[in-house]
Amino acid sequence: MVGTMHAWQAVERGHEVVQIEREAEARGASLRNFGQIWISGRAGGEELDTALRARELWERIGARVPGLGFRAIGSLTPVRNPRELAVAEAAVARPDAAARGYELVTAEEARAINPALRGTFEAALWCERDAAVEPRTAQPHLRDALRATGRYTFLPGREVREVVGTGAVRDDHGDVYRGDAVVLATGAWLSGLVRELVPDLPVRRVRLQMMQTAPLGEPLTTSVADADSFRYYPAYRSEALDALSAGQAQTPVAAAHKMQLLMVQRHDGGLTIGDTHEYEHPFAFDTVEDPYEHLTEVVESFLGRPLPRIRRRWAGVYAQCTDTTRVVHRQQVADGVWLVTGPGGRGMTCSPAIAETTANELGW
Ligand SMILES: Cc1cc2nc3c(=O)[nH]c(=O)nc-3n(C[C@H](O)[C@H](O)[C@H](O)COP(=O)(O)OP(=O)(O)OC[C@H]3O[C@@H](n4cnc5c(N)ncnc54)[C@H](O)[C@@H]3O)c2cc1C
Repeated sequence: MVGTMHAWQAVERGHEVVQIEREAEARGASLRNFGQIWISGRAGGEELDTALRARELWERIGARVPGLGFRAIGSLTPVRNPRELAVAEAAVARPDAAARGYELVTAEEARAINPALRGTFEAALWCERDAAVEPRTAQPHLRDALRATGRYTFLPGREVREVVGTGAVRDDHGDVYRGDAVVLATGAWLSGLVRELVPDLPVRRVRLQMMQTAPLGEPLTTSVADADSFRYYPAYRSEALDALSAGQAQTPVAAAHKMQLLMVQRHDGGLTIGDTHEYEHPFAFDTVEDPYEHLTEVVESFLGRPLPRIRRRWAGVYAQCTDTTRVVHRQQVADGVWLVTGPGGRGMTCSPAIAETTANELGW
């Protein structure tokens, strides 16, 4: 998506773009994610500003490309006890709470917003600005719109292997491409070409497990998170969070896999549910069951009903700046060649704004 959004920005500004993709169809983090355009947990300042700008761009692009499935659905994070409630209260007291559309709602109000939440909880943090897109189909739809301009070519099944001069790269078929600018948006593929260009890249890889259910049979009108998400997102840092961390341990499975619940409904009615975080290499090559059992329990407690059958399980890897306060790693790596990677768990959200910043900085 980072590459595709750079293509979008360049084509919008009147340029011609060739997008080169190693796989027959993109298979990276951008289609394995939740499709959450996630404002709620972003750190105040540059990160929040980038996410809010990106949300505006997603909405605008979504109006032109309906296949993106942009939905301004907001999110609810149910809280189950006074400690979790205190973190939500601290969040709505932030000076930037209004920009995020934060509001603390009662359980009854939460059910009026999202009637599927028939389970047990005390109150919920509502974030009006959160939105969603359909990650599995977003890129093909964007590419169709780009192709229609007559100034865009997608070349799948070709790996960029080498920088061979100013604004010039060679692929693994031996073909050379020259442009006014080359953007390497290689996601979490940090070996090979990227390692040769930047041996000490300050970016690490993070692996996540995900699942998707059969259709729920009713709308889930908002995204849903659990209070474990408070522990991972900078927006929730507060004395109340310190008290939560000190006084209420995560369940052992959630702690072991650094888990939170995030959940969003897909167009077919199924629920995309995650996630875990794995930082140590070598990454597991298989998916493990315990996290799925934990997530099923949490979701069932919020919905007050059994979860539909799980139909798909997968893992994904994203690239994250080792200084996690940085929105992205953007670096000129050769004459006319820039590397843009490392947006971390917010890369889907921020990709349109990241591409816009590159375009502005490079004077496209
Ligand atoms: C499970 C999971 C859930 C997530 N949920 C969210 C979320 O809900 N919201 C959010 O904002 N972010 C989320 N993220 C993060 C987000 O998905 C990523 O930050 C983002 O998709 C990164 O986009 P990218 O284009 O940089 O990488 P990718 O989508 O991985 O794309 C990189 C592409 O480059 C290609 N490539 C690599 N090297 C070469 C080469 N040499 N030549 C040609 N092609 C090459 C790859 O084949 C790939 O298609 C999630 C990530 C994961 C893994």
